[in-house]
Amino acid sequence: MNSTDLIAIVVLGALFWIYRNLDSIKEFINDQFYDNDPALGVNSNGTRDLVEVLRDNDKNYLVLYGSQTGTAEDYAKKFGKELTARFQLRVMVADLEHYDFDTLNELPDNIPVTFVISTYGEGDFPDGSVNFEQYLNELDAEMLDNLRFSIFGLGNTTYEFFNGAARKALDKLQNAGARLIGALGEGDDGAGTTDEDYLTWKEETIELLQTELDLSEDEDKQFESSFGYTELTTIENNTSLGEPSKQYLPNATLQYNSEGEQRGPFDLAQPYIAPIIKTKELFQSKDRNCIHTEFDISGSEITYQTGDHLAIWPSNPDEAVSQFLRVFELNPETIFDLKAKDSTMKLPFLCPTTVGAVVRHYLEITGPISRQTLGLLVSYAPESIKDHIITLSKDKSLFASEILASKFNLADALLSLNNGQTWSGVPWLLLIEMLPKLSPRYYSISSSSLSEPNTIHATSIVENTPNDTTGINTIGVTTNLLRNIQLVKTQGDLTSLPVHYDLEGPRGLFANGQLPIHVRHSTFRLPKDNSIPVIMIGPGTGVAPFRGFVRERFAEIKRDGSDSLEKMGKMVLFYGSRDNDDYLYRDEWVEYSKTLEDKFEIDVALSRVQEQKIYVQHRLAERKEEISQLLQKGAYVYVCGDAKRMAKDVQHAIANILSETKGLTESEAQEVVKAMKVAGKYQEDIW
Ligand code: FAD
Repeated sequence: MNSTDLIAIVVLGALFWIYRNLDSIKEFINDQFYDNDPALGVNSNGTRDLVEVLRDNDKNYLVLYGSQTGTAEDYAKKFGKELTARFQLRVMVADLEHYDFDTLNELPDNIPVTFVISTYGEGDFPDGSVNFEQYLNELDAEMLDNLRFSIFGLGNTTYEFFNGAARKALDKLQNAGARLIGALGEGDDGAGTTDEDYLTWKEETIELLQTELDLSEDEDKQFESSFGYTELTTIENNTSLGEPSKQYLPNATLQYNSEGEQRGPFDLAQPYIAPIIKTKELFQSKDRNCIHTEFDISGSEITYQTGDHLAIWPSNPDEAVSQFLRVFELNPETIFDLKAKDSTMKLPFLCPTTVGAVVRHYLEITGPISRQTLGLLVSYAPESIKDHIITLSKDKSLFASEILASKFNLADALLSLNNGQTWSGVPWLLLIEMLPKLSPRYYSISSSSLSEPNTIHATSIVENTPNDTTGINTIGVTTNLLRNIQLVKTQGDLTSLPVHYDLEGPRGLFANGQLPIHVRHSTFRLPKDNSIPVIMIGPGTGVAPFRGFVRERFAEIKRDGSDSLEKMGKMVLFYGSRDNDDYLYRDEWVEYSKTLEDKFEIDVALSRVQEQKIYVQHRLAERKEEISQLLQKGAYVYVCGDAKRMAKDVQHAIANILSETKGLTESEAQEVVKAMKVAGKYQEDIW
């Protein structure tokens, strides 16, 4: 690499930094003007001063979280709950987004803070924590010499910057003189060990906190809810039947702008209920499904850019809902209201509501069960199996072999452990507080905002695996919902489906195939200058954003005329599927080629049609000279799809190409790829 290349990389890096942060800055400003947290005004009386809120609410422990999808929030709440239950600490659990930190060094009585922070993208802080990151960046030595803290990060080792946000926070806090209690805990979603990582960190940290704060434990203390509970007799206009946000309750009025569009912002606090105007099966094969879905966003204020993510808000299937209600002997018709016992607690969902609505729309009931959850249920275990439940909740490997390996969800596990008999007496409020919130799932948008500004397309592989132990398929909540809708809309046969849904939704809100959605902005973007060549690598549903990219260039040529094709850079798409039956959008690529001519090429690796498996990285290696020349011309590389294996294999393949064609050592080639990443010339959208 010569010095001109290096300068180009540095300049591009700086530009890319500004470009990326512009989005965050915009979102930050947006957040300041559109505060979506209904609880914020109530809880903090509008102030962003941490010390004031702690004092006003008489709290003596602080847990702060930065969450992108809700997981860090769930762990923060779990941690806070446990400190309260075991040591009667008065814990305030708060979102970093809602506070300023100027008074962090002046916490009353030097109370410790626990940070729970997830990492997103390339080692980034969650969107809502930009203000915290800015605060950290401005810290000087000794500015936090009074602060005691512990910290747990949620990350994924398949990404380059594992737990980047939590590690950065640790570093900055320590450099400013804050004292760490215990060690940094690092949850690894890539290895699937987040829960066990949390438990290990939590046990060590709580032991140290016991000494540090001289805490004594009340072993006999029964579960005490943070919420007051009242049963009601009638469903009123303010009773939630599972509406995704309060704007959709009958007593609310939806807001419209002067163009008559429904007002946003649409985000994690409030989705848009989008009609599905087209849906189709993309696979030919009988045993696997991949659904193409088109959401209509006209009439909303939603805009998106090619390469963004779509969040789809699911609900739970009938089968899982009734199994859950059965195991805990719950009556779905029960109407109830919750009131937070103190003003720093946020209600977990819209209230008043019904038990049935909560189980169907607000709680994550189908995913893998955690060892801690089982531990929380020990007191309510039937006597005959109590000892076994205690052992399971303490023995990590037994729990892994008996519960996790069977892919049980909570209800399956409890029924299996109790020989098919129910668990009566588990407090409903405990279930509400211990189970995670049902959260939206993200999809790389497969349409182009230029070509279809009024619709958003998603390409989703249906998660449905037969389970020999339970006899019930292990299913993905959202993707099976999309498949149900696809079959209803195309008048297909639903009887053989593993799960079924209430497609009408609360008060008919989702009738005729509508679902709540919002858009999350990403940094996965085509170069602004369309003369720059691009290399796209996206096997399976990883092809989704590249369909959007190609449609974007296709629309540009349609708009600007075929003369503009000459200056357009080449687009090469490396796509992979098992065989021809799951070759996604096969006919469309042919159409794009007709217009884009030799400026678009798709190279397909069908992994299972020959004896030896062939993947995208093999195709890249076969064409190393061409790839090298494209890189020489400044090509951008894009990778989308599986983070665990594919993204790493592809990165190796690109580094190998650089090494072999440019005479670099392996580590020099890896450094070049890293520099490309920093400069935004090697972008990943992986999960
Ligand atoms: P979930 O209900 O979330 O289940 C997740 C997995 O856990 C499934 O495989 C399910 O079978 C399994 N499971 C369920 N219950 C259990 C249990 N008890 N024990 C063990 N395992 C269990 N996907 C795409 O198809 N296309 C895309 O374009 C796409 N883009 C993405 C972009 C981003 C930025 C991210 C983060 C993810 C993307 N994904 C994409 C993945 C997608 O978000 C979902 O994770 C996926 O569709 C599964 O969602 P689900 O609700 O159907 O499954």
